[in-house]
Amino acid sequence: MVLQDTFRHQGLRKKLIEEIKKKGITDRKVLDAIYEVPRHLFMDKAFLEYAYADKAFPIEAGQTISQPYTVAFQTHALDVFKGAKVLEVGTGSGYQAAVLAKLGAWVFSIERHKVLYEKTKKLLSSLGIDVNCFYGDGFKGLPPFAPFDRILVTCGAPHIPEELLKQLKPGGIMVVPVGAGVVQEMTSILKKGDGDYEIHALGKFRFVPMLEEKS
Ligand code: SAH
Repeated sequence: MVLQDTFRHQGLRKKLIEEIKKKGITDRKVLDAIYEVPRHLFMDKAFLEYAYADKAFPIEAGQTISQPYTVAFQTHALDVFKGAKVLEVGTGSGYQAAVLAKLGAWVFSIERHKVLYEKTKKLLSSLGIDVNCFYGDGFKGLPPFAPFDRILVTCGAPHIPEELLKQLKPGGIMVVPVGAGVVQEMTSILKKGDGDYEIHALGKFRFVPMLEEKS
């Protein structure tokens, strides 16, 4: 694969940013990060014409690269700051992880599909994007690296994953689409200092399911 990012790609990304803005995301830092990540390099090159449409798209192993609007929405909801230690569940194509890295986050990402884990780890490293990739079950999180400032789940969780709440720092935020059916409720959870949680429902989205165990 030739890892090229041309003026044409950049122009297409500018248009994509306008589209995402129209849909209500105005967070400048998030929009800039999306502009900086060449999404076409995270998809098979035969699909270039789709790379900058605001749509999810199939990748390996029956999974999808998230829709850019969804990536922007989740990233904004996560309220990432420079140096934040972030756990992403569902590395998939690596696109969301790359956007988090562009925002200056210290990213740990976990994927249960071995082929995807291997392919994406290689891709991110060849692009010089600093993401720590792990092969494992996101329901279990990454205990040796916990606690995290932020946790982002990018697959539809049947319920709020308990173990992940434990791996969140006090004052930390987890964003997770919750729902066992085809539609999930984007949920933001703030872990308060007193150990209590503040939970907000942010709207309906569609994700591939979060599944137990590795594959
Ligand atoms: N963040 C990705 C989205 C990929 S789709 C991107 O930007 O492209 C969601 C991913 O979650 C899939 O790759 C799927 O294999 C993975 N997944 C599902 N259940 C999981 C689990 N329990 N642990 C880790 N990854 C999981």
